[in-house]
Amino acid sequence: MGGAMPEPGETHLMHRSLVFQPHKVASASGFELTLDNGRKVIDACGGAAVACLGHGNEEVATAVYEQIKQVGYVHTQAYTTQVAEELADLILDGSPFGLEKAVFLGSGSEAVEAALKLARQYFYEKGEHERLHIVARQQAYHGNTMASMSVSSNLARKLPYQGFCYPHTSTVSPAYTYRYQRPSETEAQFTDRLVAELDAEFNRIGPHRVIAFIAEPVVGATAGCVPPPVGYLRGVKALCERYGILLILDEIMCGSGRCGTFFAFEPEGVEPDIVTIAKALGGGFAPIAGVVMHRKVVDVLRQGSKAFVHGHTFQAHAISCAAALAVQKIVRRDGLVERSAAMGEILGTLLRQELAQCRSVGDIRGRGLFWAVEFVKDKATKEPFDASILYGPKVQEEAFERGVAVYPGHGTIDGTAGDHVLIAPPFTVDESTLKKVCELLRDAILAQEAVFLA
Ligand SMILES: *Cc1c(COP(=O)(O)O)cnc(C)c1O
Repeated sequence: MGGAMPEPGETHLMHRSLVFQPHKVASASGFELTLDNGRKVIDACGGAAVACLGHGNEEVATAVYEQIKQVGYVHTQAYTTQVAEELADLILDGSPFGLEKAVFLGSGSEAVEAALKLARQYFYEKGEHERLHIVARQQAYHGNTMASMSVSSNLARKLPYQGFCYPHTSTVSPAYTYRYQRPSETEAQFTDRLVAELDAEFNRIGPHRVIAFIAEPVVGATAGCVPPPVGYLRGVKALCERYGILLILDEIMCGSGRCGTFFAFEPEGVEPDIVTIAKALGGGFAPIAGVVMHRKVVDVLRQGSKAFVHGHTFQAHAISCAAALAVQKIVRRDGLVERSAAMGEILGTLLRQELAQCRSVGDIRGRGLFWAVEFVKDKATKEPFDASILYGPKVQEEAFERGVAVYPGHGTIDGTAGDHVLIAPPFTVDESTLKKVCELLRDAILAQEAVFLA
């Protein structure tokens, strides 16, 4: 080594926290992480619902290696590559749901940023220049860059940047049944109330000033795998069409097969105008995200400036595209989207069985291999734990100590109160691994209950 380190215990790498030292992973293979101290941990969340094929896939490794030898990088201003073309073809074969083109970028935030710009350019081309406003939902996450952060509601991540965001945004209520459906309401009435609220919000701003409504079909990390109430997205889409407002669905976490269909919106019976995808697209083997565009949007560009006025040096990067293409070919060849749906049913059943005895488990919800457990201090009243306890992160730490990695969530209900953990195993997971995950999670929850519900 030699040379001084920044502060005792620190390294030159800027971690997320200056105090918490992340675990060093020496190797990762299949469902398992091996830490540099030799400890093994089952990865039941694939990082942040990323690793859809698990770790260390030989076929993907070979594809990436071969691509580097073939053509590693070219600039998209002048060039394209076979892998980038094939990846777009594979995802959009037959233009499903009217979705016609994809642009590939390096991260989810970049994809959301590009989606918002595309939506704005769409109206610019149409001469509707006064459209500048974006409506999002509370308890949603869309990214960490300026505009994507502006439409996100993760309070802790936004705190230092008040006044530093894109100003023309507002939010409506989350479509979060367990917390926000009133006891006096049916699910359909809850949906109607949410759609009416969005209608009122569009009208408050002036519908002719609104670019888009952006939402996660199944809310990811912020509120924990929240599927929409019945008919919600259909209602939202009808409203957007009435006013000519675009519907952007952020499927960065819930999409690409994670929820048991390739697009998470598929069961909802809607055609979104723009979709963002990322996490399970490349399975974490390379950084890659996508913005997928409906024919309606592309047509306006065709008739207008004939370009998407947006670009990055690393867009459609051949190595990232090669990794994602290899992942998506395996997903299709091995029927892994269907497997995500089937194993998801099993995971849901196992979670309900194993956690039945846990007094702090208020709700178990999810779709495909995308599940969350929401914690409460009192099941009957749904009262959350004192926020300062950080119960969700405590359960996650306890589970990690016992050998299973789940993704922690805190501020589940409103950004401050509420706790959950998220389980998002690889699509290749088997039943015995799922059983082990659920048992270890149960033990971790019981251990925390012994402390906080004693
Ligand atoms: C992770 C995530 C993002 C941001 O993606 P990054 O790659 O972290 O920039 C955006 N939207 C949703 C729904 C996400 O889950």
